[in-house]
Amino acid sequence: MDLNRLWQNVQEELKISVSQTTYRGMLAQTTLQDFKKNIATVGCPNSYLRDLIETRYYSLIKEVLDHQTKEKNSLVFTIDSQTTSKKNNSLGPLFKKPTAKNQDKKPNPEFGLLPNYNFDTFVVGSSNNFAHAAAQAIVKNPGQTYNPFFVWGGVGVGKTHLTHAIGNAIAQNNKNFKVLYVSAETFTNELVEALQKKTITKFKDKYRKCDCLLVDDIQFIAGKEYSQEEFFHTFNALYLSGRQVVLTSDRKPEEIPKVEDRLISRFMGGLTVDIQPPDYEMRLAILKQKAQEKNFSLPEEAAAFLAEAVESNIRELEGALFRLIIKAQSNNVPIDLEFTQNLFGSLKRKVKKTTPKTVLSQTAKHFSFKTKDLCGKSRKSELVTARHVAIYLLRKDLDLPLMKIGELIGGRDHTSIMYAIEKIEREYSNNQGLRSDINKIRNNFQS
Ligand code: ADP
Ligand code: MG
Repeated sequence: MDLNRLWQNVQEELKISVSQTTYRGMLAQTTLQDFKKNIATVGCPNSYLRDLIETRYYSLIKEVLDHQTKEKNSLVFTIDSQTTSKKNNSLGPLFKKPTAKNQDKKPNPEFGLLPNYNFDTFVVGSSNNFAHAAAQAIVKNPGQTYNPFFVWGGVGVGKTHLTHAIGNAIAQNNKNFKVLYVSAETFTNELVEALQKKTITKFKDKYRKCDCLLVDDIQFIAGKEYSQEEFFHTFNALYLSGRQVVLTSDRKPEEIPKVEDRLISRFMGGLTVDIQPPDYEMRLAILKQKAQEKNFSLPEEAAAFLAEAVESNIRELEGALFRLIIKAQSNNVPIDLEFTQNLFGSLKRKVKKTTPKTVLSQTAKHFSFKTKDLCGKSRKSELVTARHVAIYLLRKDLDLPLMKIGELIGGRDHTSIMYAIEKIEREYSNNQGLRSDINKIRNNFQS
């Protein structure tokens, strides 16, 4: 098999699935080192990009590779020393040292900041508005408002994105500032390396002489005494000289186990905020923004369905959207509700066995009517809504022809059936109550 060729095809497909910045800065830097027994070894130019690509794009790359090879594969990520030396720039084109020309626009990429994780691309909603507002205050007066700023929350809720956004904005507003982003894991690894190579002074200089230090996933230093000791001194050096420190964690400071009390109390000495999983409105806004970033038209109904189906976190939501885009592009079909449902809902498959009778009786029951009321002549408004929902479900989940639905609903003509379907389709995305009614009825189809 021609590995280069295969990887070229994979990259072509990845290119259309992510933003240009992500592609050029990260995915275009990868190579296929080896591919045996369905295990692909993907080379990355350095450990920073390897960790980032692996955590963020594993499922996307796998999906594309599976699609290209028509097989199920696993991925292993390594550092490809050849790309590193070949390109003579370990961080790739988007991360290269600023020249006089681009210095004004971009924060110094040597400091680990990802330019596309900024405030412009950060959607604000009820689950993160407090964290966002505090972050903006910090950007205005680094080191003066909330120090340290401690952000905690579950996976994929936007802690890393917000941290980079703070760093990017501070670096942009203060051209001479050294703003350093690092994960606690990298901090620990660099410390170990510095001890081995006897370069601890250099290490200390790097971390203690910056103007703003952003440390992601600080819970990683749990149980690592030497890292804690070093971080304690780093923190003090920065804090006492009024430099901004931003920390993130997957839990509240006081709940991080195996971390010295003196550090925990430092963590809690400024402002602690949490980011919650996104609510429906925010999930919808995020999907719209991400689709727009990729220049992809995502119909309202499909977005609403996806926002309802993927509740967990933003990373999953983003992954689901990318999968949807790839699938639609590889099948060469436009995205619509049905396509989205087929890919994610499995709702449709489940209800294939459902009969029109069940749809009518479950809908009637849900709205506290009798089946014969749904099919009758009354135009009482609640009854009309129930009738419209039944029509919508008969069409969407059972794929019945309009005429057939008309017959079932008391001999109505196909234009009124069309009208009912369109009405519910329109309301589906902005009427939370209606959506929840429909989902409850669907869940009861199987019971
Ligand atoms: P965490 O660090 O909390 O695990 P990340 O910051 O890595 O989460 O976010 C996961 C993904 O979701 C990233 O691709 C990020 O860009 C995206 N994301 C998170 N929050 C937002 C938001 N508020 N607006 C837009 N994208 C977001
Ligand atoms: Mg993170």
